[in-house]
Amino acid sequence: MKKNLVILGATGSIGQQTLDVVAQVLAGEFRIYGLSAHSQGERLAEQIKKYRPRKAVVSDHGQYQGVLAATAGWEGQLLSGPDGLLELVTDPAVDVVVSAVVGAAGIKPTLAALQAGKKVALANKESLVAAGELIMAELKKESLARLIPVDSEHSAIFQCLQAIAEADLKQIHLTASGGPFARWTVKEMKKVTPEAALAHPTWRMGGKITIDSATLMNKGLEVIEAHWLFGLPYDQIKVVIHPQSIVHSLIELVDGSLLAQLGPADMRLPIQYALTFPERKENPFSRIDLYQLSDLQFYPPDVKRFPCLELAYAAGRAGGALPTVLNAANEEAVYAFLAGRIDFLAIPRLIERAMNAYERAINQKLDLDTILAVDNWARRITRELISG
Ligand code: NAD
Ligand code: MG
Repeated sequence: MKKNLVILGATGSIGQQTLDVVAQVLAGEFRIYGLSAHSQGERLAEQIKKYRPRKAVVSDHGQYQGVLAATAGWEGQLLSGPDGLLELVTDPAVDVVVSAVVGAAGIKPTLAALQAGKKVALANKESLVAAGELIMAELKKESLARLIPVDSEHSAIFQCLQAIAEADLKQIHLTASGGPFARWTVKEMKKVTPEAALAHPTWRMGGKITIDSATLMNKGLEVIEAHWLFGLPYDQIKVVIHPQSIVHSLIELVDGSLLAQLGPADMRLPIQYALTFPERKENPFSRIDLYQLSDLQFYPPDVKRFPCLELAYAAGRAGGALPTVLNAANEEAVYAFLAGRIDFLAIPRLIERAMNAYERAINQKLDLDTILAVDNWARRITRELISG
């Protein structure tokens, strides 16, 4: 019997690639049961007409009437608002949820899907950064059977770890392309425009993660993501710049062996693996031609020019809700940069100031309400800092 699949954030980069994987490779295994989008109502309406899901959610209320009108004749149910996402993922008919919304908006639906016993393919790294402790507590021991990483680096590590005994793992190495400004001086980075920052050298992705890649915050978020997914202390999570984005990450074993996963820079592969795990399936996607591979480079990140990485390690090591603050401040700063309100180098400065303000201000026990309150607080503080 086909499994019922829900894609949260279906209109985004990961969402659309998931639909492509299902159409091209997994049509016999999965039925598109539910789709969601936020403000891209028109694209969602197109997807509804094409895939005819049982349910769809437009999480931005303002888009509801438009989507409803555009999908007249569709026999499914259209829900609206953030609560619609919770209703969709907890539907008893749903088997698997691809969590691919962007930002902390993914916390509640990801947690709700896990609480309802669903298998979750996780692209939304921000939910693990902001609420990792809660999410992992929900999963306890079964973690990587039910929460499968989609992020390419974590998928690579997850794949390498299959059949490796826990005691044999020394550390992991997350690769990073370095983004478009890998070789720029701080002075040059001062004048970076949103257009330049959105031109990623190796990956085509949504706007927020593309800016995160340019500041290296994406790698910082991924360090925290790896800490929770693989249960590793921060000292055992390393970052290496690898501009070619061919080696998606590596694990290092106690005897000095390095195991890596290689592939083209195509997210459809980790998406497919998350959906077929523990099995694999042939696909028609492009492959690496080993004869064409040359000059793969690896070098250490420059944390002086890219302070976001250190901020993320510091937040992760401090624990508590500091990663929640880091994540929320980063989201606010990135959107302010994209709107032309702050310069590129202000992003890490704002995050650091929000983190410092938090240490003085709040220190509470972590439950979902606290996490959401801290997220809110950090956004407000960051917005205040931005408007001076
Ligand atoms: P995107 O901006 O292309 O798409 C985001 C999706 O989320 C859209 O469908 C949008 O409608 C929806 N959305 C936006 N705001 C929302 C809100 N407030 N509530 C509910 N839904 C909302 O983003 P993307 O590049 O597909 O990234 C999605 C997630 O996957 C991010 O967490 C990102 O870090 C992660 N990720 C992406 C890639 C990639 O290649 N794109 C790779 C690894 C991880
Ligand atoms: Mg990644």
